[in-house]
Amino acid sequence: MVTVAMERKGRLPVSQQQVTHRLVTVVPCLPATLRDSEVPHFFRERHVLTGYRPLHQDWRYYLLSLFRRHNETVNVWTHLLGALLVLVWFRELAEVVDFAGDAHSWPLLILLLSSFCYMSFSTVAHLLAPRSELTHYALFFLDYVGVALYQYGSAAVHFHYAVPDDWPHWLLGPFMPVAALLCCFSCFGCCFGKYCSHSSPSSIRKLGQVLPSALAYAWDTSPVFWRLWGCLPSCEQDPAALFHAGQVGFFLASALFFTLLLPERWLAGRCDFLGQGHQLFHTLLVLCTLCQLQASHLDYRGRRMLYLRLHGDGEPAFLVCLFVAVALVCTSVAIGMTSKVAGRK
Ligand SMILES: [Zn+2]
Repeated sequence: MVTVAMERKGRLPVSQQQVTHRLVTVVPCLPATLRDSEVPHFFRERHVLTGYRPLHQDWRYYLLSLFRRHNETVNVWTHLLGALLVLVWFRELAEVVDFAGDAHSWPLLILLLSSFCYMSFSTVAHLLAPRSELTHYALFFLDYVGVALYQYGSAAVHFHYAVPDDWPHWLLGPFMPVAALLCCFSCFGCCFGKYCSHSSPSSIRKLGQVLPSALAYAWDTSPVFWRLWGCLPSCEQDPAALFHAGQVGFFLASALFFTLLLPERWLAGRCDFLGQGHQLFHTLLVLCTLCQLQASHLDYRGRRMLYLRLHGDGEPAFLVCLFVAVALVCTSVAIGMTSKVAGRK
């Protein structure tokens, strides 16, 4: 491959020659990965024994590790590909949906934006976090901001498009403010659990992440549960029902792998590169998001009469304002927790 690159060298533009030369000379010099006993405690993942990248390398090392074999490679690629799929989806939808002119398409736009945020933040966190302790915490706090935004995006589309006609109407007023509070609570729980993991058992971290997130998920998805329950056993008449059932199934499966650390719990050291529960969690969450996008698009097109009756013309703008408020609060939580990490050094 090197020979071929050198043979072609004369025909390449100068900048491309430089890139080729750098890749050829730099990649083989990257330091080897380490065992769990050779990295700090905060950096270790349970039941993952090898493939850790060393700390305190320059940024280029971590960026180039995208193309190297280590225990985060698949975690990075699963969400990187997911983020690219969301961009492709957005391009396709932009051709048939008037995002600028139709305010009732904004919840769909919020879901697209928040999906892209959580996947790209997660990609950055898994790729660059090992650089130092502070970077590790700051980037995973950013990852949790992305998760909270995605929770809000889910609540927005479920509330605006998926809510069935027989849903208790008194819930319409408080639904989104409560959803926004639960997103912020979930972000704080995840950040605080991660912060405490420095000195506390990992069960505290899981508790901080799973409990508030489960509460937020139950609330945000309640219109979908209500609708699926109501359409049984003849759900085939509802074109989006299959995709809603898919998003619920994929999410619950992803939560199972995230929480139970399967299958590496039974195969410690054998899933270090491929097969970790976290990789399955990422993959299933991407599939959940794709089903949710398809279901929301079908609802946006097919249930217009219903959501125009249930939601006023000013409501989409309110959802956007609340989204910005959630983003600001969660970002403040992440910055505050990062400064606490910096302060304890
Ligand atoms: Zn992850």
